Amino acid sequence: MHSSFDPERKKILVTGGAGFLGSHLCGRLLAQGHQILCLDNYFTGSKENIRSFLDHPRFEAIRHDIVHPIDLEVDRIYNLACPASPVHYQFDPVRTVQANVLGVTHMLELARRTKARILQASTSEVYGDPEVHPQPESYWGNVNPIGPRSCYDEGKRVAETLMMDYHRQYRIDIRIVRIFNTYGPAMAPNDGRVVSNFILQALQGNEITVYGDGSQTRSFCYVDDLIEGIIRMMEAPGLTGPVNLGNPEEFTVLELAEKVISLTGSRSKIVHKPLPQDDPTQRRPDITSARESLSWEPKIRLEEGLKKTIAYFEQYGLATKALPVRAARTKQNGNAASRLPTGALRRAG
Ligand code: NAD
Ligand code: UDP
Repeated sequence: MHSSFDPERKKILVTGGAGFLGSHLCGRLLAQGHQILCLDNYFTGSKENIRSFLDHPRFEAIRHDIVHPIDLEVDRIYNLACPASPVHYQFDPVRTVQANVLGVTHMLELARRTKARILQASTSEVYGDPEVHPQPESYWGNVNPIGPRSCYDEGKRVAETLMMDYHRQYRIDIRIVRIFNTYGPAMAPNDGRVVSNFILQALQGNEITVYGDGSQTRSFCYVDDLIEGIIRMMEAPGLTGPVNLGNPEEFTVLELAEKVISLTGSRSKIVHKPLPQDDPTQRRPDITSARESLSWEPKIRLEEGLKKTIAYFEQYGLATKALPVRAARTKQNGNAASRLPTGALRRAG
């Protein structure tokens, strides 16, 4: 008789599983032999990202929005469901707050009933525009509570609060990771993030849109490194976090633009556009905690990761012929229709 019982195999829920990070995570966990429930409302994610798993016997896709409760039997919950790029999370800010308050509560209630361990994908945005540099987990941040980024920044902060309160009050087994800017294949080409924008602009010979003077900094982590860190955190005994996960190498946005131009061999020119409100001026993770508690640090340097990402977008560009670039994202420099998330575009007809 066929038996699928394997004591090592876990039933793992990945919310936001059809998104950029979620789809990589599903792939890695499937390869480890687990059973995957991939939950997504396809607001910013895409079936394309999980197409290669759909026929897998240990993979199941569920269309659901975490702002509504759901009951499932699971051992692990990776909660990634939330729009992540500024263009997307500002498209429906009330919904963004709800994903982080109602959605996270529903996932924690699920963890409480099933006794599952739950990991929350938090963000470097909890540090806001940081006055401490680089940012250690002990830094409480400098966040505007009423600005255009607040739905995400404050939403993610209250999500961390809920995680800690469920842990203290109900002894839920929790993990919090604070993810810094991550890039790689399967990023949505229309999400307005800097790496995808610059690569597509360079490949299409369009102007490279640097917001402000380009002196603001970010630290870019390649997706494979990040996924390794997330899984290590989930399986580390007795840790709650928060733990920063990101690449501590820091670049100005202008340096990134120049690197992309040189790696693509593009003739694109750099143009400057207005800096969006509350755009953080600097960001770099202090990853001492991840190094010590998870023996984790990124291995893939920016140039190598960019080459892989450029190869992905080259392939994507060929497959879809003319791929429109969502270059602009502020009211001053944006075209509203071109900034809609994929799900919204689909709904709009
Ligand atoms: P993404 O937009 O590609 O993925 C998010 C996924 O969640 C999408 O598939 C989307 O359809 C789904 N989703 C959104 N709201 C939902 C809801 N209410 N119910 C169900 N599904 C919903 O973004 P990503 O870059 O893959 O980010 C994944 C997670 O990691 C997010 O929580 C984000 O805040 C966090 N994060 C990402 C980065 C990064 O640089 N990529 C940095 C910090 C934090
Ligand atoms: N940015 C830019 N040009 C673009 C997109 C973004 O100069 O076409 C800048 C943006 O203003 C910010 C940085 O790049 O300073 C990173 O932006 P992103 O939206 O990728 O992520 P953030 O870290 O702001 O959430």
